[in-house]
Amino acid sequence: MTKFEELGLSQPLLDAVKDMGFETPSEVQEKAIPLLLESEMDLVALAQTGTGKTAAFGFPLIQKIDSASRTTQGLILSPTRELCLQITNEIQAYSKYVKGLNTVAIYGGASITDQARQIKRGAQIVVATPGRMKDMISRGLVDITKIDYCILDEADEMLNMGFFEDIKDILSNTPKEKSTWLFSATMPREVATIAKKFMNSPTEITVGAKNAGTSTVQHEYYVVGGRDRYPALKRLADANPDIFSVVFCRTKRDTQRVAEKLIEDGYSAGALHGDLSQNQRDLVMNSFRKKQIQMLVATDVAARGIDVDDITHVINYQLPDEIETYTHRSGRTGRAGKSGISMVIITRSEMRKIHAMEKKIQQSFLSKKIPTGIEICE
Ligand code: ADP
Ligand code: MG
Repeated sequence: MTKFEELGLSQPLLDAVKDMGFETPSEVQEKAIPLLLESEMDLVALAQTGTGKTAAFGFPLIQKIDSASRTTQGLILSPTRELCLQITNEIQAYSKYVKGLNTVAIYGGASITDQARQIKRGAQIVVATPGRMKDMISRGLVDITKIDYCILDEADEMLNMGFFEDIKDILSNTPKEKSTWLFSATMPREVATIAKKFMNSPTEITVGAKNAGTSTVQHEYYVVGGRDRYPALKRLADANPDIFSVVFCRTKRDTQRVAEKLIEDGYSAGALHGDLSQNQRDLVMNSFRKKQIQMLVATDVAARGIDVDDITHVINYQLPDEIETYTHRSGRTGRAGKSGISMVIITRSEMRKIHAMEKKIQQSFLSKKIPTGIEICE
C-alpha cells in the first residue's frame, strides 16, 4: 500500500496529514497527487463522492503555490456555499504549517465587503461559488488574471445547477497559460463539453469501479398513500431511534414545512434550504455536524456535496425529478466503507421510477412496509 510519504509531498503537508489522522492516501489521491506535483497539466479526475477529492487537488495546489507572493494564484470553483466553506476549511487545515498562505471563501449570502477585504489582504487561494465570483469580478473586487491553477470541483453538480454560463465568464477572465483540474463524480455530456472547450488535452484518471461509491448502501422503498408521506416519515424515524439522517424534499416550502412539523411533533430536526439566511444555514449545518440534530430536512441544492460522516439513513421524502439526483442523495450515506440505507417514500403511481433507478444504480431496491406501531414498540 502506498504511503503519503511516497507521493512527493513536502514536510509541512505531511505534518498536516498526520494531524488530520489520514493513514493512507485514497485511490484518487494516490493517482492525482504525484501527477499534479510532477508537472503542469490539465487533469480530469472522476471519482465517487466521499473518495477524498478535496485533498487530491488541495495538497498539490498548496505545494505549488508561492506563499511568499500575495497574488491570487489558485481558484477553486464549487457549486454551493456549504461546499465552498467545507473546501476552505479543509485547505486551511492542510496548509496549517505553510507560513503565509491565505485561503479565502467567496460565496453568496454573506457580506461582499468583508469578502473583498479578505481578498485585499492577500489570498493566494480563493474558493468560490460561480455566482458570487462573477459578481466580484464585475465589481473589480478580485483579480484572477494571474492565476496558475483553476480547479472545477464537483463539476457535474455545478453544471446540473445551471452554472455553465457563469463558469464560462469566469474562465474568460483567467490567463490562457494555466493548469485546469476538473473533479467530478460523474461525466455527463456537459462535463465533457467543458473539458473539451476549456482544457488542453487533459490527462484523465478514473477511480474505482462504477457504483463503488454506493455499493455499501441498501436501497429500500415504501409505498404509501398520497397523504401518508408525513406519517410514514414519523414511523420510519420511530423505528430507528438512533437515526442520523438527511431527509430530502423537492421544494423549499415542503422542506420548511416537514422540518417544522417534525419539530412540533417532538423530533430532533432542522431545515436546510435556499430561503434561509446564510447565518441560519450555517447554524443548522453546525448542529447537524455535531449530531445535535438527528434529521436534516433539505433541498437537493442546499445539501449538494455536504460531507458529514456517519449518516445512517438518507430518506427520500419525495423523489427527485432526475435519476442522477437520486445517486447523489444516496451517496450521502455509506461513505468511507460504512454501510447505509437509502429509503424512498413513494406512491403507487411512482413505482416505475423505482425500476428506472434500479437500472441506473445497477442494484435492486427492497420493497418494505412502513412499520406499524406494534413493531416499533417491540
Ligand atoms: P469527495 O470530495 O471525494 O466527496 P472529500 O474530499 O469531501 O471527498 O473527503 C471525504 C472525507 O474523507 C473527508 O471527511 C476527508 O477529511 C476524509 N479523507 C480524505 N482523505 C482521506 C484519507 N486519505 N484518509 C482518511 N480520510 C480521508
Ligand atoms: Mg468533494
